[in-house]
Amino acid sequence: DMVKEEDLDVLSDLGAGNGGTVTKVWNKKRKSIMAKKLILVDAKPAVRKQILRELQIMNDCASPYIVSYYGCFPVDVHVGIVMEYMDLGSLDYICRNTGAIPIDIVGKVAESVLQGLVYLYDVHRIIHRDIKPSNILANSQGQIKICDFGVSGELINSIANTFVGTSTYMSPERIQGAQYTIKSDVWSLGISLVELAQGRFPFADPPDSDSESCDGLDDDERQPAENTFDPDATLPLSSQRPQLSPTTKRHRKRGVSLGGGGMTMSILDLLQHIVNEPAPRLVSRREQFPDSAVLFVDACLYKDPAARKSPQELLESDWIKNSKVTQADLRSWAEGVAEAQKP
Ligand code: ADP
Ligand code: MG
Repeated sequence: DMVKEEDLDVLSDLGAGNGGTVTKVWNKKRKSIMAKKLILVDAKPAVRKQILRELQIMNDCASPYIVSYYGCFPVDVHVGIVMEYMDLGSLDYICRNTGAIPIDIVGKVAESVLQGLVYLYDVHRIIHRDIKPSNILANSQGQIKICDFGVSGELINSIANTFVGTSTYMSPERIQGAQYTIKSDVWSLGISLVELAQGRFPFADPPDSDSESCDGLDDDERQPAENTFDPDATLPLSSQRPQLSPTTKRHRKRGVSLGGGGMTMSILDLLQHIVNEPAPRLVSRREQFPDSAVLFVDACLYKDPAARKSPQELLESDWIKNSKVTQADLRSWAEGVAEAQKP
């Protein structure tokens, strides 16, 4: 039985992204906490109806690595999606609160995301399309699951044509307008893992700088780097022009500076950088990363998608196979995170 809007009482805000807002809700009927996401769909009612129909595919998505789906409904011009509430939030949120994530835990994150991607693709022929730390969620049982994958072709289309910005986790081929494949998700995973392990977005600062972006500093204490954003600039992209959202707080907060000396890049420069420069690597800073982890990330970040490994192949890599992290370790990590999140 699908969850209906009238069953839900709003408890608190969980966050807002490019095209949606997420709230914590209480389901009176089922007596449980859930998360409700509202996505603004700037489309005709018929298209919205089609999206709601297509989202039903999520009913059949059942995996320990995928956030569970409970129902969807129209809310004015929005589409409401009700899903499993993950009490530790997303990994970007955790990283901002508690700093870089220990490399062994990052290995477990990699495995969970890969299992989720393989499940979605092998069983449902779904490509995620938006892998990034804010779409990887954790709970205090130590489970790690992915959310916000592209189930509805109609939704993907209406997002592409309207409001959602290009993501800086996008692969070089995607930025250049090539067709999206599962290898593009692998690139996004690689960038996300570097960010979680190093505690900073890999394109944020030069690797030898001491500043950290996930160090718990208030945003005000960080570099006041505001990206220059010119929505009318000509994009170096083929096919359709992605809509770069100037309101993307994340990009504004991050001092997207390269090469030291306070050189700040616009989002367009950053996209061009991703296309033209060598891919980031897992660079050891405070912590010495194992070679197997460095090699794994390298295999995710080949700029040529044909050379890049598939999720199946990556699951067979040494780093994942030799991971010594148990469910108990994950649980105790999650308990530590939960402790740190207490007010
Ligand atoms: P984005 O993923 O770009 O941050 P979203 O609108 O998808 O934007 O989500 C906003 C925030 O809400 C996320 O960053 C995450 O911290 C939180 N969130 C999303 N889904 C859930 C969920 N199921 N449980 C708990 N928190 C969630
Ligand atoms: Mg999201």
